[in-house]
Amino acid sequence: MKDEKDGKKESWEDLFWEPHKYNERIKFKSGTYLHSICPHCDKELTKKQSLILEVVNPDNEIGIVELSPYLDSFEKTTNIKLPEGKVVKDLRCPKCHESLIVKKQRCGLCDSKVASFLVSTSSIKVPFFICTRSGCTWHAISTEDENQILLDSSDEW
Ligand SMILES: [Zn+2]
Ligand SMILES: [Zn+2]
Repeated sequence: MKDEKDGKKESWEDLFWEPHKYNERIKFKSGTYLHSICPHCDKELTKKQSLILEVVNPDNEIGIVELSPYLDSFEKTTNIKLPEGKVVKDLRCPKCHESLIVKKQRCGLCDSKVASFLVSTSSIKVPFFICTRSGCTWHAISTEDENQILLDSSDEW
């Protein structure tokens, strides 16, 4: 969550909220291709048609889960067992292996812990949150009231 290299940056979340002042609302359309970026090492997590994350299942096995980089597409493939309905132990960046789990946010549907990384389209980069429970499709962009970004097809709002 911190960037020690540059003293001006407070946290990656503050940093990326900068361009979205004045209650500007941005909508990502369903099906938008989102580049995903690790908030720790700044490496891209998306590779062509996959968003690749390291996952730890309830049996402490470490594997890879590939998600769809398209917004509101919930395809998922994995090389380890992820029991449906169970929360994964951890979701990590496959490059720096830092955990992507965030504490200040819970799933809006099932209250499970959530993972967060940055997503970007051509012009903006914002925090994105996903639920860690297998089978739950909850996801959100932003948690800051003032800077709420709405998902086009979200029914949470
Ligand atoms: Zn990383
Ligand atoms: Zn959930």
